[in-house]
Amino acid sequence: MKSLLRTFQSLSAHTLRVLTPCECHVCQRPLAHGFICRCCEPKIPAVIPNDTRCPVCYTVMLHKTELCNVCLSYPLPFRRMIYLWEYGDSVRDLICAMKYRPSRSLCHGVGAVMGEFISELSINPDWNLIIPIPASRKTLTKRGFNQCALLANSVSSSFPVPIEVSNELLIQSLTSDPRAGMDQKRRLRSRVSLKVTKPELVLGANVLLIEDVITTGITAVSAGNAILNAGACSVDILALARAPSWQRLRARVYKRCLLGQRTATNKVSSREGQIPFGR
Ligand SMILES: [Zn+2]
Ligand SMILES: [Zn+2]
Repeated sequence: MKSLLRTFQSLSAHTLRVLTPCECHVCQRPLAHGFICRCCEPKIPAVIPNDTRCPVCYTVMLHKTELCNVCLSYPLPFRRMIYLWEYGDSVRDLICAMKYRPSRSLCHGVGAVMGEFISELSINPDWNLIIPIPASRKTLTKRGFNQCALLANSVSSSFPVPIEVSNELLIQSLTSDPRAGMDQKRRLRSRVSLKVTKPELVLGANVLLIEDVITTGITAVSAGNAILNAGACSVDILALARAPSWQRLRARVYKRCLLGQRTATNKVSSREGQIPFGR
């Protein structure tokens, strides 16, 4: 696979025309072209799915089995949880720049990197629909845009035939707490309530969800549940990064979000409805 580090500097001419950079979006040093300088490019290798990783959550497995033990005990609503990097070091700086110095051109550039990454993976791109994780109303007001929506547009454009992006199908209800800036404890306690506005549009679809960073996984899992319960055939998620702590929070996130929800195997639990969504 082509090095993603090179990808940062070798985005297509079209992408570069869209960007109008004059400084690195992370460290703000002057830049001749691109959107991030070589010093700020993530230096860690991207996570490439292979035989040593669980085919659903991409965690390294000590022994080769069909699924990792955590996915067997606490199933995810995803066929695959694809992410580029473990969250840390230069990846943290990049994501902080996206969150705290919001820039449309940075999101478009990073989305193009995500698009190149996923289009080079040896998986069948059978998605009919790309849905970005929605931002809370408060975050939208403050930032002016949903950065996952911009990432989604760039990912869509990376396919030979762009996949439809729907920004309005999945929404956060007013009871959701804004999660930006929350620490892990508060995130685990916070309310996340997501709903599909027009279930008929996701019925039978293979959906690709787009997230920037998976920390506790509560938002991602809640979104996956909402889309599966609206009748989608499958949901995959593509994220820029995943926090290393995510795996050890799986049991808590599962108990909070998953009981009674459909899983990626399309089974409906007999406990459906016992635990209200997002509480
Ligand atoms: Zn820089
Ligand atoms: Zn797994």
